[in-house]
Amino acid sequence: MDLEFDRNHIWHPYASLLNPPPVYPVVRAEGVRIFLEDGRDLIDGMSSWWSALHGYNVPELNHALRAQMEQMSHVMFGGLTHQPAIALCKKLVEITPPGLNRVFLADSGSVSVEVAIKMALQFWHAQGKPNKNKLLALRNGYHGDTFGAMATCDPVTGMHHLFAGQLSQHLFAPAPRTPFGQPCSDEDIGELEKLVVQNHNILAAVILEPIVQGTGGMRFYSADYLRRVKALCDAYDLLLIADEIATGFGRSGQLFACDHAAISPDILTLGKALTGGTLTLAAALCSDRIAEGICHGEAGVFMHGPTFMGNPLACAVANASIDLLLSSPWQQKVESIETQLKAQLAPLEKAEGVADVRALGAIGVVEMREPVNMARVQEALIERGVWLRPFGKLVYTMPPYTIAEADLTQLTASMVAVLGEMA
Ligand SMILES: *Cc1c(COP(=O)(O)O)cnc(C)c1O
Repeated sequence: MDLEFDRNHIWHPYASLLNPPPVYPVVRAEGVRIFLEDGRDLIDGMSSWWSALHGYNVPELNHALRAQMEQMSHVMFGGLTHQPAIALCKKLVEITPPGLNRVFLADSGSVSVEVAIKMALQFWHAQGKPNKNKLLALRNGYHGDTFGAMATCDPVTGMHHLFAGQLSQHLFAPAPRTPFGQPCSDEDIGELEKLVVQNHNILAAVILEPIVQGTGGMRFYSADYLRRVKALCDAYDLLLIADEIATGFGRSGQLFACDHAAISPDILTLGKALTGGTLTLAAALCSDRIAEGICHGEAGVFMHGPTFMGNPLACAVANASIDLLLSSPWQQKVESIETQLKAQLAPLEKAEGVADVRALGAIGVVEMREPVNMARVQEALIERGVWLRPFGKLVYTMPPYTIAEADLTQLTASMVAVLGEMA
């Protein structure tokens, strides 16, 4: 492959074009393996950023794509509809927390967050409360890269100062500190409660990633905390936007992370694993109250409609991915991945330079005391046949649920060896 051209002309995610980090040419992927051009193959520990739940080149997903392609790859969704979208939205209404009955199909996670924010603002506008137009977000949160979403990301890691004056100004509560599995103290929720009490007149919604804060720190927090946020939203008439773009479809051990707390948000965003890692597709679901509120308002409609809304290929493969997931013993598999991650990463707890080791569902995290040299760690892992993408102080894995025990053992053993050597 022409890597010279790649280096000089193609942006990669969060990369420099002056001093580009290495990229590895891939020719094929199958099961949990990524095959490089030079003949090496790597066990995938990233699920292509939370998306490839079933691994790669999955016959059921390929079949769904081919069958749909023979009918139509795309038609506009304005004034037209089709079975793949209807079947998918029916499934999403069924399997997401109760009450989320209305579905907006978007084309990427960030866009679904834009849609969720717009829903919340249009709702309050329609209620005659246009001043309720700020959001309350959590520090260490991540909600996407578009401007609306970016304004709700952690102000420091999201580099808000770069876009000063261009980003909507929202409120931020400290990140929850109560670990998963523990009851939340009054103190931990205190600052958020104070912000809600003092600002509810200008707040449209709380936006958060339930249970797992992903890109902003890979932190797992108390279901009790989430329940208490939901109760505060109800008490002070704020909407709750749950961003499950990363956690949706079983990753945290429940089908949706909100299920850990048995809560239903007013608005829910989904993406990443929605198509099993095949095509880009996202969704923003909302309750009847929100949908009816918006449509009773001045506009009478919801003001959004992407060109590729409800793309039939993406919907067809999403249907196949959800069917495949739900017909598999996914929960058992995710549980055993969690058990294995906890046991096999434990030796790092006492290793030099390691601050914390944690696992929840099919997510394993090693937090170092100092930022790691990504290129160096990545190269060392590749030499051991493993694909991970560390960032900052975090070296973490969220493998496909289909990973075999032996492959996961190789993956964790490589993390232990490489991070041990680094120290
Ligand atoms: C990845 C992610 C997004 C953004 O999704 P894109 O498809 O990359 O635009 C938003 N929120 C969360 C929680 C995510 O993990």
